[in-house]
Amino acid sequence: MIKAYTETIVKARLHLVHFRPQTLAAYRERCCVCELRERPLLDAAHIVPDRLPEGAPTIRNGRPMCATHHRAYDQEILLVTENYRVEVRGDGLVRGDSDATRRTLRDFHGRSLWLLREEGLRPDAELLRKKIELAA
Ligand SMILES: [Zn+2]
Repeated sequence: MIKAYTETIVKARLHLVHFRPQTLAAYRERCCVCELRERPLLDAAHIVPDRLPEGAPTIRNGRPMCATHHRAYDQEILLVTENYRVEVRGDGLVRGDSDATRRTLRDFHGRSLWLLREEGLRPDAELLRKKIELAA
C-alpha cells in the first residue's frame, strides 16, 4: 500500500477558541451524560449547531460531552429534552441490542443530564427545543 497525502485549506472557526475551555471549566470537566472525567476525551458540544444563526458559542448553547455522546447527539441518536432528560432514539442504532450499545447509549435513556447548580448557565430550554425540531 502506498500512502498518499495532499494539502488542503481549512477554515478555522476562530470564534470558538474560548468555547471548549469555558464550557469544560463550567461543568468541572465531565460529560453531562455519563459524567466521564477524562479531559482529552471531552468536547464542548453545541446544542444548536454553529452553522445556524442560533448556534452561538455560549455556555447556554453548549455542554461538555464525551466523544461518543457528542457524536450521538450530532447524529440525533441521543437528544436532550427541554426538561434536561436524555432521549435515545433506537431507530438510528445499527446494533441496538448489543451490550456495548446498551451500556454507552440505551442505559442513559430517561436519565437527567448532569447540570450546573447555577440555573442561569444551564442549557437554554428554547435551544433544546430547537435542536429537537431540527431532528424531527
Ligand atoms: Zn459521555
